[in-house]
Amino acid sequence: MSKKTEHIAIIGGGIIGLGIGWQLVRRGAKVTIYEKGEIGKEASWVAGGMLAPYAEVSFEEIKLMRFGEQSLNMYPRLLDELSEDTENVPVLDSCGTLMAGIDRDDTEKLKRLCEFRKELKLDVKMVTGTEAREREPLLSPNVVSGLWLPDDAQIDNRKLLKAMKKAFEKMGGMVKDHTKVEEVEIKGEAVMSVISEEETYAADRVVVAAGCWSQQLAGIPGQQLPPIRPEKGQIITMEKTDDCQLKGIIRSPRMYLVPKEDGTLRLGATAEEQGFDKRPTAGAQKELLEHAWEMVPAIYELPLVETVAGLRPAGKDHRPIIGESDISGLYYATGHYRHGIMLMPLTVYALVDEILDEEVSDWLAPFRPQRFNAN
Ligand SMILES: Cc1cc2nc3c(=O)[nH]c(=O)nc-3n(C[C@H](O)[C@H](O)[C@H](O)COP(=O)(O)OP(=O)(O)OC[C@H]3O[C@@H](n4cnc5c(N)ncnc54)[C@H](O)[C@@H]3O)c2cc1C
Repeated sequence: MSKKTEHIAIIGGGIIGLGIGWQLVRRGAKVTIYEKGEIGKEASWVAGGMLAPYAEVSFEEIKLMRFGEQSLNMYPRLLDELSEDTENVPVLDSCGTLMAGIDRDDTEKLKRLCEFRKELKLDVKMVTGTEAREREPLLSPNVVSGLWLPDDAQIDNRKLLKAMKKAFEKMGGMVKDHTKVEEVEIKGEAVMSVISEEETYAADRVVVAAGCWSQQLAGIPGQQLPPIRPEKGQIITMEKTDDCQLKGIIRSPRMYLVPKEDGTLRLGATAEEQGFDKRPTAGAQKELLEHAWEMVPAIYELPLVETVAGLRPAGKDHRPIIGESDISGLYYATGHYRHGIMLMPLTVYALVDEILDEEVSDWLAPFRPQRFNAN
């Protein structure tokens, strides 16, 4: 550590805050994570756990796709380190994504996505309905086309959160759960402390990893606050039966299905603008189930385990916001939107290097907080 660091406070115990906290304590820093509720129980818990840079890349977001690809490549290192520190570490499931289409519209969309990925030299292949069913026999006879992306992966994000919390505490990290940070105290352009309803905690570095609530902290001047809003996503968990086993991620333009190592199948997800309202709704659940049934009729018989909604932290430009702000010692790691599980390893390793070694990673250049300064 080049700068003297006494105490690092992290606001938010989701996958991003936990990951940063764990890697910081691993490197000898003194860290407390402040969490307003229970550690890891917001968006990071609800997520589908897809690590799918190739299925998710959009035409405008090549830099984000490369960031996701690099982050996915770092998962083996992260899981090895986690296994050194604790038990019950999830496996990285390199299952690939099969995008399926049921009509001409879907097929044309898949062809367009295929061409774009080929231009980027990604491993991708259009398949017929029959070939898609050879890979995933439970696909409906109505599926007429598919796009196979072998390099996507997934992980049990809930198991990962539990393992990271254990590792963080085992390595000496402090968790203050049910402790909402109300304010970050700043004096002379530098952070001094974080303030909850009950107490003031001195901190010479503060990391804001508060997900979709990152804009709600008093003390940080308005123009310096990360421009983040919540985007609601509903997801349904079902129990896999012997008759309904999928090999990997199945996506259509309307939903995705992800088989998990704990014997469940997750079906997601909506994208809704409902403010901070996290209640699942009947209509959205009905639509998700119908879309999934259209692709994989066997889900009809599956027992339902859970219906839940989470709030994705969505930035103004839908890109993450990572790095030191213009206030000395105040770092942001937020706005990971639909990709926080996938983007976690690179976010964590790059930001921890920046905090402890003052090394600014080129990977973070497109995602720094300063890009909003001129607006
Ligand atoms: C339905 C759905 C499906 C998704 N699927 C995927 C997927 O398949 N793959 C993928 O990569 N991503 C996925 N995502 C996105 C992913 O979940 C998020 O990008 C990621 O979880 C963000 O992590 P986070 O730690 O920033 O936020 P969160 O997990 O929301 O954590 C932020 C934490 O900060 C705490 N907090 C907030 N304010 C304060 C405060 N003032 N004081 C103390 N604590 C505070 C909160 O209580 C919360 O626990 C999905 C999201 C949803 C909703």
